[in-house]
Amino acid sequence: MPAECGTTGGYQKHRRDGTKTCKACRAAQTAYNQQWSASSPTYKRNNRLMSRARSRALAKLAEQHPDEYRRLYQQTVTELRTA
Ligand SMILES: [Zn+2]
Repeated sequence: MPAECGTTGGYQKHRRDGTKTCKACRAAQTAYNQQWSASSPTYKRNNRLMSRARSRALAKLAEQHPDEYRRLYQQTVTELRTA
């Protein structure tokens, strides 16, 4: 079944294809996230902690592999600008 706009599957398809998410897909994804977040009280706290851990791990990785990090960073900037 093809993913249709206005569904979380449609949102994921936009992300996979690298196309700009449309309003209907963003709304579907936001509703899903809110529902999921409300059903899991510790979600926000855990998510904050995991977000901080990701940032710190990324900083350490960038320190250990500065050239590769710069290359990946520039590549990602280019990808985002052309998306
Ligand atoms: Zn869409």
